[in-house]
Amino acid sequence: MRTRVGDMFRNSLKVLVRIDNCIHKRHASSNVAFIGLGQMGARMATNLLKKGQNIKLKVYDVSPAAAGSVKGAIPCQSADEAVDGSDVVITMLPNGGVVKETVLGPQGILKKLSKNAYLLDSSTTGPEVARDLAKAAQDSGVRFLDTPVSGGVVGAADGTLTFMVGGSKTDVDVVEPILLTMGKKVLHCGDYGAGQITKLCNNLILGITMIGTAEALNLGVKLGLDPKLLTSVVNISTGRSWSSDTYNPVPGVLPNVPAGNNYDGGFSVGLIAKDLGLAEVAALGINAPVPLGAMTHQLFRTMINHGLANKDFSVIYKFLSGETK
Ligand code: NAD
Repeated sequence: MRTRVGDMFRNSLKVLVRIDNCIHKRHASSNVAFIGLGQMGARMATNLLKKGQNIKLKVYDVSPAAAGSVKGAIPCQSADEAVDGSDVVITMLPNGGVVKETVLGPQGILKKLSKNAYLLDSSTTGPEVARDLAKAAQDSGVRFLDTPVSGGVVGAADGTLTFMVGGSKTDVDVVEPILLTMGKKVLHCGDYGAGQITKLCNNLILGITMIGTAEALNLGVKLGLDPKLLTSVVNISTGRSWSSDTYNPVPGVLPNVPAGNNYDGGFSVGLIAKDLGLAEVAALGINAPVPLGAMTHQLFRTMINHGLANKDFSVIYKFLSGETK
């Protein structure tokens, strides 16, 4: 007699075989939908197509220009249209509110997803949203994983992102080949929400180190040092961090970073402020002290009030140096 568990296993196996076939470029194609094609999503979707040859990719973004930006993908008029018939759906949206509306809202895609399809949310939303999505997905027979990323737009473009994943290990194993088309590491962090918790902890460090780096480099420059020389010393000393050696906030120190592009593109002040707020809420829930996180959060929020919400967060350097225009 066929059991429900047996059916679920067989369906999961079918999806696994389809994903494996397309990654290893055998025959069948896998239907993937990507929703949210901003700074990160457009680059991730591009790599997904480039590295997974037999993937049929449908994409959707509220901005039609963004939806048309992924060469080789099929742009759709709605999220519903994009996910119709998909084995795997990836969302890369600005925040938890938008993700919940897109998945669970009146026009939510969950209703459209077939049983045992995979819903992977790579947006940074916090653990509560991830758990709510996991519960709703489970009730609908859909497999959910929270799959937030680190590596920024450079990692998204290079396909070197780190995926921090929460959910069932069996499901992680199934979708890992898909994630590895966009990143170089897939780390299973624990149950639903654990990927999001890992991401918030990482971004707490990121926000703090970016401000610390900008503060020190601004001090050095104001005291007459060459920022390139100062950075080169920091980068072989104890002050080194991703913010100093990969994403330096001083214009002209590194190529291909937002600081060299008038702080356009990249990871916006609005988004880091959102992540620090999520980290604070999580910390409040368990009475964990996050004194530097709180201060960092307030600084980025102040920058939003100075019209810098859409600039890359490394613009803190310019803000501290006294120029906001
Ligand atoms: P972004 O604002 O550049 O892109 C978000 C995209 O979602 C936009 O193109 C927007 O038009 C689209 N969108 C908004 N509402 C939508 C809807 N209802 N349906 C479909 N599309 C919709 O943001 P981003 O920088 O790409 O970041 C996306 C997520 O990834 C965020 O949660 C962010 O915190 C996280 N993240 C960003 C970075 C980074 O360096 N930018 C790094 C890691 C994680």
